Amino acid sequence: MYHYVRDLARSRFPAIKGLSIERFRRQLDYIQANYNPIAVEDLFNAMSSPHKYLPPNPILLTFDDGYSDHFLNVFPLLEERGIKGCFFPPAQAVLEHRVLDVNKIQFVLASVSDVWKLLDEVFDSLDEFREEHSLKSREGYLMAITEKHRYDPREVTIVKRLLQRDLPEHVRTELVRRLFAEHVTSDEEAFARELYMSVEQISCLRRQGMHIGSHGYTHAWLDSLSPASQAEEVDRSLMFLRELGADMDEWTICYPYGGFNESLLEVLQNRRCKLGFTVEARAADLNVDGRLTLPRIDTNDLPS
Ligand SMILES: [Zn+2]
Repeated sequence: MYHYVRDLARSRFPAIKGLSIERFRRQLDYIQANYNPIAVEDLFNAMSSPHKYLPPNPILLTFDDGYSDHFLNVFPLLEERGIKGCFFPPAQAVLEHRVLDVNKIQFVLASVSDVWKLLDEVFDSLDEFREEHSLKSREGYLMAITEKHRYDPREVTIVKRLLQRDLPEHVRTELVRRLFAEHVTSDEEAFARELYMSVEQISCLRRQGMHIGSHGYTHAWLDSLSPASQAEEVDRSLMFLRELGADMDEWTICYPYGGFNESLLEVLQNRRCKLGFTVEARAADLNVDGRLTLPRIDTNDLPS
């Protein structure tokens, strides 16, 4: 599972968490020396027919969130090595030039020098929403955040949890919008055009044999939606894939934030989804793992 792959040191946001192009190149060397990269079609075949086998040590590369990094930096290296990757662009970000809240939060964090200060700013601005939404106290929110993130320091985990999940949706959307305008840019559309691939670039990847799958429409936590909203998210993302010319008999989904539940799986089964990718961090075992709940290993966990 890959996200950003960019020349971080020379970018405008060197603090963004991502893989440098050099490290990506080294990982591809390592992968090719130790594994056999497969295309998603090989996986379809292996799962549908017991007579078809995958090569030993098969590996499938997936790229989430439709970043222009994937077209500019990843695609040339995959193409040069004959590797077929899977790409999961969030439809709304690409079509409507909107920056995903999760990305806004990353770029805000990459733009401030003191995250504790940012956290104070978040808590201070809660006061104006407090009446309307019966918000918890600062201590109440802090106490509810007990988990440790594998890569982030405590203050970063708190900012992410509050702004991605714990605050009421209306409050977090508004706070994220303000923080992004204040710390990053007031021109969201221009930023989105730079951050994500265009429809033409994604179509080009597809024509060159890369797989394009669904990553939802709005990049919502799909497990938090009603079954009707889940169906709407899926159907709108499928319209996007159809417009890109994707093969609708062989479509796949990658769950935003890894969020799925039983009712979503039912929606996907009804629409004959072939494969679903989660963020559970381990190697997949096709004899045990369900087609729609495949785990993935994060690039940060690979040696490099
Ligand atoms: Zn995503």
